[in-house]
Amino acid sequence: MTSVPRAGECPECGAVTRLHTCHDLFMTLLSYDHEQRQPWAAFHTLNVACYLLQHPSQGTAASRAGQWLMVRTFVDHGIDAVHALARAAVRRNSHRHGGRGGLDADLPAPPPPVRHPAVTIHTVAVDGTFPAAGYESRMRDWAAATLASRAPDGAPG
Ligand SMILES: [Zn+2]
Repeated sequence: MTSVPRAGECPECGAVTRLHTCHDLFMTLLSYDHEQRQPWAAFHTLNVACYLLQHPSQGTAASRAGQWLMVRTFVDHGIDAVHALARAAVRRNSHRHGGRGGLDADLPAPPPPVRHPAVTIHTVAVDGTFPAAGYESRMRDWAAATLASRAPDGAPG
């Protein structure tokens, strides 16, 4: 990602940010999650994973492998598989690290970003309010685009 961002464009995901910044939208989505509002809260782990994989400067390299695994699991197996994975990670960590969440540090790192994703948090937010209608379908598009943005030369996964 060496191109210089234009004004009103997110330097990380490439989205047009004239109405909302990516971070503002992420904060809105997190507030729905934290209030346990559905359908958003069910996708909390995935929201965080997609957002941070598309905005790596806001995450840490150590957490990216787990986020990548979450997104791949969702695209391949659906949201129930993501929840199962998250529960297993919490169980493992509660034995090993006294309850801190997160996945194993020995997971493979994701490939580096090679292109701006075709779907960003702005797509999922629609008008900034993350409408419930079609939300799950937009989440699928966001996750798939996140994988494609890091896949070498268009090869998925
Ligand atoms: Zn962005």
